[in-house]
Amino acid sequence: MASYIFCTGGVVSSVGKGVTAAAIGRILKARGLNVMIQKLDPYLNVDPGTMSPYQHGEVFVTVDGAETDLDLGHYERFIDENLDRNCNITTGQIYHTVIMRERRGDYLGGTIQVVPHITNEIKRHILAIEQQHPETDVVIVEVGGTVGDIEGQPFFESIRQLRHDLGRRHTFYIHVTFLPYIGATGELKTKPTQHSVRELRGIGIQPQVIIARSDHEVEEGICKKIALFCDVDQEAVIPLVTTDNIYNVPLILEKSGLGDYIVSRLELKAQKPDLREWERMIQRMQQAKDTLRIALVGKYVELHDAYMSVKEALLHAATHMNRRLEITWVHSTDLERDKGFDLLEQADGIVVPGGFGERGVEGKILAARYARENNIPYLGLCLGMQVMCIEFARHALGLEDANSTEFEPHTEHPIIHLMNDQRGIDTMGGTMRLGVYPCRLTPNTKAAAAYAEEEVLERHRHRWEFNNSYREQFQQAGMDFSGLSPDGYLVEIAEVRDHPFMVGSQFHPEFQSRPNRPHPLFLALMRAAEDRRLARHRSTESEVKHE
Ligand code: GLN
Repeated sequence: MASYIFCTGGVVSSVGKGVTAAAIGRILKARGLNVMIQKLDPYLNVDPGTMSPYQHGEVFVTVDGAETDLDLGHYERFIDENLDRNCNITTGQIYHTVIMRERRGDYLGGTIQVVPHITNEIKRHILAIEQQHPETDVVIVEVGGTVGDIEGQPFFESIRQLRHDLGRRHTFYIHVTFLPYIGATGELKTKPTQHSVRELRGIGIQPQVIIARSDHEVEEGICKKIALFCDVDQEAVIPLVTTDNIYNVPLILEKSGLGDYIVSRLELKAQKPDLREWERMIQRMQQAKDTLRIALVGKYVELHDAYMSVKEALLHAATHMNRRLEITWVHSTDLERDKGFDLLEQADGIVVPGGFGERGVEGKILAARYARENNIPYLGLCLGMQVMCIEFARHALGLEDANSTEFEPHTEHPIIHLMNDQRGIDTMGGTMRLGVYPCRLTPNTKAAAAYAEEEVLERHRHRWEFNNSYREQFQQAGMDFSGLSPDGYLVEIAEVRDHPFMVGSQFHPEFQSRPNRPHPLFLALMRAAEDRRLARHRSTESEVKHE
């Protein structure tokens, strides 16, 4: 039987509860345990797929095509497991299921209530992980939001009941809080933590571990105080000071003794922790001297969370090459106003990530043009591949009004058009082409060289696709279709032939990159970026000599 670790939050949100849960997963996995992680989101949307990135950050896509919270991306990257749709549950989903059942007549004669109907449905989802993955030793369940939120109550009640259902030996509660710093007196305050623990106890949950997040060093006295007033062991108060590298968190938690504490309390059969590979990775990140500069051109660039997996995938690839990563955030609408081209020029590589809707698209097309005409390495992700094709049609083929019908429904040259099976779909939630599909690589292309494989599986999230009636024209003008669906029908990867590296994928490779296993396309981009960096370095050196 699996053990369940419930992670709740207190005081404020956005203190890195998701990364903390993921890091706990890593230190347990380092002990040879099979770990799964689940996020419970209290909002009423069925999934985050219909939310603006400004509201929610990136939408992470699982192998089985669920549109999920970005924390699932952290979980996958930290525990190195593929998660699935049951790993992200929302209030919207729970209510949807219960109400559909009620309409079907499953509860005829009964009154449907939050307790027990909603809470039972939540518990069913939590326990389903172990049924689907019987080899699981530990399920980590993160409850979104903070204790005391009205909408979170059914989730808290459900995890409270699970202690009764599963027993003390199989349940464990970790509370992540925040210690505010008072500048005037120069001290950290524990009172909000005490209050949030009291709130949690009011619901009937006594935390066994308190992780105290802080922007400042936490002295032992503070930990003692928290232990005394919150009734936890002193060794179970774990200070977690903000770090500039989230991949440090497992090492910090391990050093604090949290892994051993959990193992002893849950009486888990664990090996000695082996985090050597992880430590080596951190060392490489810290020791890298030379920097690769990547311009990321998007329309949500003020909110970096909107491009979370892209950012991480770039870091994984740079780390693998012993390089530091510097991302230059370029607003695509700035390019439309003729601003920001200097940032593209100074970059070693350009990435145009995914996106929806018309705003900023022309700027992304300009970025693709700049990359092609100036031989700057370019990686296009989903929309980034589509704009690369539109640009090529307009300026290499002379099809001036080429566009995607997403942005210009009546364009004369619909280079990108709606996929056949998307026509007639009029509901928005979960109806895109989602999840993993195979892609066959075309021999002797840059993509095939990057993967060194014949067929790969990649994750998708899109409605539009490359219009096959233009394939031949494109090929003649110098664009290769280096990845196709196995039936040859869908263009999955396109690349510009006479260019150092200009590749676009209809899928999202960023979702499959892991810190210890960078994605081949990101690595190929970085290799090309390194070539550009070295060439620039050589040319500035020779300029200096001439002076
Ligand atoms: N909007 C485009 C489509 O739906 C691209 C989607 C994306 O970048 N994820 O096809």
